[in-house]
Amino acid sequence: MSNGDQFRELIEAYALGALDPEERAALESHLAEGCAECSKALDEARWLVSQLAYLAPDRKPSDMLRSRLMRSVRTLASSARTASPPASVPFWMWGAIAALLLFTAYTSWETYQLKKAIDAANEQAKIAIARRYELEEEFAGVIRTDPRSVKIPMTTGDKSVPNLEAMWHAKLGIVVAGQNVPMPSGERTLQLWLIPKTPGGTPIPSRAVRPDADGKFMLLVADPPGSMDATKALAITEEPVGGSAQPTTKPIWVGAIG
Ligand SMILES: [Zn+2]
Repeated sequence: MSNGDQFRELIEAYALGALDPEERAALESHLAEGCAECSKALDEARWLVSQLAYLAPDRKPSDMLRSRLMRSVRTLASSARTASPPASVPFWMWGAIAALLLFTAYTSWETYQLKKAIDAANEQAKIAIARRYELEEEFAGVIRTDPRSVKIPMTTGDKSVPNLEAMWHAKLGIVVAGQNVPMPSGERTLQLWLIPKTPGGTPIPSRAVRPDADGKFMLLVADPPGSMDATKALAITEEPVGGSAQPTTKPIWVGAIG
């Protein structure tokens, strides 16, 4: 790619039909040579021209195009002085208006491109999330059905809240699942804690989850922050979004191990 392609800055004026015949001829032969940058710029400029109806003016024309337009205006103004006053808006004025709109359209073009990129990324993310969810479900299913997993009933003192059940597989991790669980207030989440056997040991924070709209949740901890042997109990508290380093509320559910 050449440094400072001097044709590149003519593209917008070309798309508007605002070039001198010599400039136009030079640019067209440059395009015919297959300059990728200018071809792409021309595609964009043509797209922009087609989008002029949707624009919001928050972009300024380049100095290059502005001086070009002003020159056209001056030329036409001086020739208009010698001729009779134009009966309608002259063609060049539409060109100037279109040029101003054209440059505001860069915003639209960029927004359009950005939106396309975001849509594609969102689609990818949706697929990835769905796949991850599937994998988690499969993984949780294995933990729940493996005979080596230890069942840990998690009970609550609150009559309005159902009991839960955790399964802990020494190699594969912990699964806690619940149904008809009341939604934590605001943005708060349910966070799992490992209560260590060590006397005076502080609860070890694990993952946090929010039930879905039906009060259902499945918490998979594939890599628990402590071993089953060193853990006395599991507990779940309600915590602010993102979880806490130490419990800030009383446990809703507790399940002793073994
Ligand atoms: Zn070029």
